[in-house]
Amino acid sequence: MNRRLEQAQACVGQGVAAIDTPALVIDLDAMERNLARMAAFAVGRGLRLRPHAKMHKSAELAKRQVAHGAVGVCVQKTDEALALAHAGVHDIFISNEVIAPAKLARLAAALRDLPTRFAIAVDSALGITRLAQALDAAGVHAPNAIDVFIEIDVGQGRCGVAPGEAAVPLARQIAQHPALRFAGLQAYHGSAQHQRTPAERRIAIEGATQAVVRSRDALAAAGFSVPLVTGAGTGSFVLEAASGVWGELQAGSYLFMDADYAGNQNEADAPMFEHALFVKSQVMSRRENHAVCDAGHKSHAIDSGLPAVAWPTGLVFANGGDEHGILRAAAPGTALPELGETVWLIPGHCDPTVNLHDFAFGVVGGLAAGRVERLIRVDAR
Ligand code: PLP
Ligand code: MN
Repeated sequence: MNRRLEQAQACVGQGVAAIDTPALVIDLDAMERNLARMAAFAVGRGLRLRPHAKMHKSAELAKRQVAHGAVGVCVQKTDEALALAHAGVHDIFISNEVIAPAKLARLAAALRDLPTRFAIAVDSALGITRLAQALDAAGVHAPNAIDVFIEIDVGQGRCGVAPGEAAVPLARQIAQHPALRFAGLQAYHGSAQHQRTPAERRIAIEGATQAVVRSRDALAAAGFSVPLVTGAGTGSFVLEAASGVWGELQAGSYLFMDADYAGNQNEADAPMFEHALFVKSQVMSRRENHAVCDAGHKSHAIDSGLPAVAWPTGLVFANGGDEHGILRAAAPGTALPELGETVWLIPGHCDPTVNLHDFAFGVVGGLAAGRVERLIRVDAR
């Protein structure tokens, strides 16, 4: 066990003051409320929830999501799927294209050897051919051994086939291999998530809905019914849920809520999610007009903006480099924190922030006076 992990383990049961900085901290009470709110939303709309576990990469948190009614989780990478499967997560959808034969061979072996139910997205004939070859080579012959979703590009311009006819030959190819089950359509509009106003997002998801319907109609005309449409993220899931087309929601960031998502204006009927992911930092240098804390972009990702300062309030964070953050008063007269004082940051983007850490401190009882209940490992880092 590495020394950092040993030190961290020694904090379990102690107050938050014992957490050395910089450190990734999860407010477990806030996280549980987020879990419950999303679960209630999905139940209320009669939809399946399959949260995206690329966000936390943690088997423990995936299992919490399943305990709150999720049917399973999504991941983006083969090795995320394998890490979670080996840690006992039973239903995993790789919501992404996998082309490399070596990756598909690892997946096929897991399919053969573990009790996990796997699904995967495809958008090419070669991807299906290689998936089928990997299953054959691993001796996976059971009918419908893996669920295969055809990804449609519903507006982001990333992966996926064009809406309409293009899905039909892929569905035919999937149908030819008994171990592959055509499970439906993967339809995720990534660039809609951070459009700030409900009106902008509504336009994007209306377009995505039309794209899905065109593909579904083309498949129906060719004799294929679409069992399930899966997609949606934290910024737009209320709209996919209202569309009548999506049957499964893939939101991930709702669990932790980062500073970037906090900048979205919400739909009136959207559940409220709280910030549950923080970086604990402390002031290590102090000048008259600024304080410097010990968390830089090796502690938190900055691709979607700099962290917000949760505590002390009234401060603005400026990038100070790898290991430093510069704190200034947002308005004249706000007191700056003193040397050694704790500073709680809300990361700009939760997924790549978690990916910088091997584990997080799980805190109960609040950040001010709570205690470390357990460490949460980032298993699939
Ligand atoms: N589904 C897919 C395919 C994604 O790529 C993502 C994130 O990028 C999500 C779902 C979850 O999105 P979010 O974390 O924004 O809720
Ligand atoms: Mn993200």
